[in-house]
This record gives sequence, C-alpha cells and structure tokens, in this order.
Amino acid sequence: MAKVVCVLYDDPVDGYPSDYARDGLPKLDSYPGGQTLPTPKAIDFEPGVLLGSVSGELGLRPYLESAGHSLVVTSDKDGPDSVFERELGDAEIVISQPFWPAYLTKERIAKANQLKLAITAGIGSDHVDLQAAMDRGITVAEVTYCNSISVSEHVVMMILALVRNYIPSYQWVINGGWNIADCVARSYDVEGMQIGTVGAGRIGSAVLRRLRPFDVTLHYTDRHRLPEAVEKDLGVTFHPDAASMVGICDVVTINAPLHPETENLFDEAMIARMKRGAYLVNTARGKICNRDAVARALESGQLAGYAGDVWFPQPAPKDHPWRSMPHHGMTPHISGSSLSAQARYAAGTREILECWFEGRPIREEYLIVDGGKLAGAGAHSYSAGDATSGSEEAARFKAKA
Ligand code: NDP
Repeated sequence: MAKVVCVLYDDPVDGYPSDYARDGLPKLDSYPGGQTLPTPKAIDFEPGVLLGSVSGELGLRPYLESAGHSLVVTSDKDGPDSVFERELGDAEIVISQPFWPAYLTKERIAKANQLKLAITAGIGSDHVDLQAAMDRGITVAEVTYCNSISVSEHVVMMILALVRNYIPSYQWVINGGWNIADCVARSYDVEGMQIGTVGAGRIGSAVLRRLRPFDVTLHYTDRHRLPEAVEKDLGVTFHPDAASMVGICDVVTINAPLHPETENLFDEAMIARMKRGAYLVNTARGKICNRDAVARALESGQLAGYAGDVWFPQPAPKDHPWRSMPHHGMTPHISGSSLSAQARYAAGTREILECWFEGRPIREEYLIVDGGKLAGAGAHSYSAGDATSGSEEAARFKAKA
C-alpha cells in the first residue's frame, strides 16, 4: 500500500467555505481541439467546491483510504523542519500544485528513497528537478490542459487591466476620490496595438484567439511553428525567437514553460529590446523574467506595466520587489486555480492515480518524465535540466510571517 503526500495551499483565513458565490459549474464536453477532459472512474467531490486547499484534499481521501493507501495533506512545505520534508522519506507519491509548489530539489529527491511518482495537480512541473527525477527513474506527470483556458482568460484580463489602467482607477474609487485625470493619464486603448506571445501552445494560442476580436495585430514565437492554416486563421505572424519579436510589440505575454532555455529569458538585455512603454504579462513562471531587471524597467519607464501571477520562489517573500514596484498588476499564483480549474485538475489527478495503482499507462499528454527521460508532453515542451535552484528561499515567507 502506498503513502501519498499531498501539499496544498492553506484554507481561506476565515475557514473552509460552507457556501459559494454560484451553484455548480458550466458543463464542458472537451478541451479545444478535442482532447478529452479527465476521465477518472469516479470522483468524490462536488465540482465547484474548494479542492485546492488543505481541507479540500483534492477530493482524494475517500478513494485513497478505501483502497488501503495512506494520505498526508499539508501546506507546510518549506525548510528542513517542514511537514513535507519530514514525510518525504517513505512517500511513494507526492502531489503538489504549482500555486503552492512543493519544491522537489535534487537534495530532497535524494532523501525520498521510496518516491516513484510526482504528480503536478495543474500544469508546469518545473518545481521538480526534472534532471534528478530522470536520473532516479521517478515518473513526473501533470494534468495537461486542465487550466490552460483559465490562464488565457487571466492573461487577457491583465493586458486590459494594465493598458486601461484599471487597478489604480479602482483604487481611487475605494479611496473616495473621483480623480478622472489621475486615472486616465496612463490609460490607453488596446485597439491597434501589436501583441506578441512567447509560446503558442495551449495557453498562448487561446490568448491569441481571445485577443483577435480586439482589432490588434498578433505575433508569436515558439520552438515549433504552428500549421500554416492555424497561423492564417489566427492572423498571427511568426518570429524565430523572442529577441526578434519583442521590439515591435506594445504588449508581450509569456506562455512557455520554465526550463533551462527559458530561465531568465527576459533579462535586462531582452527588456531593453522592447519598445519604451511596452507592457509585459507573465503568467508562465516567475523565473522566466529577471526579478530586478523588471523592477528597474518599471521605475525607469522602459516598461509601462508588468502583470502576472507567477513569482520565484513561491510563496514570494514579503520583501519581494514585485510586491512594491510601480505600475504592476500582480496577483498571487491563482490564474490556474479557479474553482472551475480545480474540478478538472482534481479529476485529472485521480485519473493519474487510478492508472498508477491499476498498472494502466498514464496518458502520453500527461507525462513529463518517464522511464528516465523526458516523455509525452514533457518531451515536446521541455528541455532537460533543473530549474529549481534557489527555491529554498521560499522558507523566508514563513519565517517572516
Ligand atoms: P503547452 O505545452 O501547451 O505550451 C507551451 C508552449 O511553449 C509550447 O508550444 C512550447 O513549444 C513553447 N515553448 C517551449 N519552450 C519555448 C521557448 N524556448 N521559446 C518559445 N516557446 C517555447 O503548455 P500550456 O500552454 O498549457 O502552458 C504553458 C506554461 O504556462 C506551463 O508550462 C506553465 O509553466 C504555465 N502555466 C501557468 C499557470 C498559472 O496558473 N499561472 C497554469 C498553467 C500553466 P513546443 O511544445 O512547440 O516545443
């Protein structure tokens, strides 16, 4: 029987909800392009409830315990004395969400002698040292597509919020003001702008599709070019790399995974290539952008705004410069954890567990690492190597709380 350790974010400060803003969720038939939604044999939760926090347990406890497995759920994930690190030694399976990542560094993997499967309840497995997982023969799987559309909606919201100067304008209302000139002195229309995405996979192409009706000109760069028919359909121009694309864009959105090729891609030099007053929206991973270069560019006016929901490490220390830099629209990492997305990734996690315990293959599109190498979706979108270094700093959030 297996020991499963599941790391989830804390419950709301007022306690686990007893009721919700809406009743249930809209029913979807499939993802765009036809990929099927998660298909576990059953689920033990009501879609639309909070599943991603500790008390929600991703709805997994009845299933796991009735099959004789043990489940440890904790939010205490950082530092050598954390519950996660103490429970890791005899865990066969670790489940974690990118929003509140249980960093599986090389050192932690070395201590986790029994670890065979690391599941990302969401998308983006960069919190696992993929190289160390390959070297140890650990399978890494994620719930591909579960929250790609959720994130694309967040990206569009953030582009509009920055360009139209929504957040400061809202703040004037809260503060009792009617300061129209203060609000509009930084407010523009998106119409007519040049908008480019780094990465045109599931999220990137959904962003392009959603932006098209705004009468903008669209651009993208990606490791693999989209089929010509799709480029035509979206009316989007391909650029061979980010460096050659960013100079013509008013808005750049980053929608590529974090791996050694994309780590620190938006450094001082890349940001300097952008138009003065461009906006940068990054909901992919914090480490793709250089922390201090972004803050400096907002202060100098090279960037007119920066928004996103991804930081490094997570949770971000209280003194992380992105909390206090000017003209930002940051949220904590939430875009892929709407109640709608939670229902899908909880069901997808259950599907992966059912496959694992029943000896059935995990879907190719869910696999990141398998059999000692990048596999499935991982082989397509990632490069080998480690992007977890520096994650120990996440412990500072707790220390300063
Ligand atoms: P996909 O795998 O569908 O798309 C990622 C795209 O990025 C692929 O087309 C891939 O190219 C491309 N890519 C990879 N490396 C590069 C590179 N060096 N330069 C340009 N493009 C590159 O994944 P999703 O769209 O579903 O998700 C993308 C990322 O967004 C995730 O990996 C995750 O980090 C992040 N994410 C964030 C969430 C949030 O809550 N904020 C939630 C979900 C995801 P190709 O495959 O052609 O090689």
